Amino acid sequence: MTGIAINHKKCDECGACISVCRKDALVLGEKLEVLADRCVSCGVCVNICPFAALATNGETA
Ligand code: SF4
Ligand code: SF4
Repeated sequence: MTGIAINHKKCDECGACISVCRKDALVLGEKLEVLADRCVSCGVCVNICPFAALATNGETA
């Protein structure tokens, strides 16, 4: 299973993760969303988030 989990309670919608994703898999609408068909679970966004709002699937955000 690929993809990441977003903890919307922690996400500040700062957009930092969007700018580091090389797959354009993150989009910010009303809330941050991950496009599962684009995400390759590289973990770059998980490491960059200043609010620890992202986790690779299988981990708790
Ligand atoms: S970097 Fe973290 S806080 Fe910022 S938009 Fe992404 S998930 Fe939300
Ligand atoms: S895990 Fe990688 S590909 Fe998936 S949303 Fe984060 S930065 Fe993009």
